[in-house]
Amino acid sequence: MAVPFRRTSKTRKNKRRTHFKLSVPGMVECPQCHEMKLSHRVCKSCGFYKEREVVSK
Ligand SMILES: [Zn+2]
Repeated sequence: MAVPFRRTSKTRKNKRRTHFKLSVPGMVECPQCHEMKLSHRVCKSCGFYKEREVVSK
């Protein structure tokens, strides 16, 4: 239900938003170049997956 915005104090609003978090889903460090990459994906910066190059630059 809509509530006039002045009825919600800054404290209450901010407390509610403590649950709003930025999430970086499934990020792991590449064992080859130590960049952050998505897990179960070919590394974007070195093109390696499972210790061998699958995408050439
Ligand atoms: Zn890499």
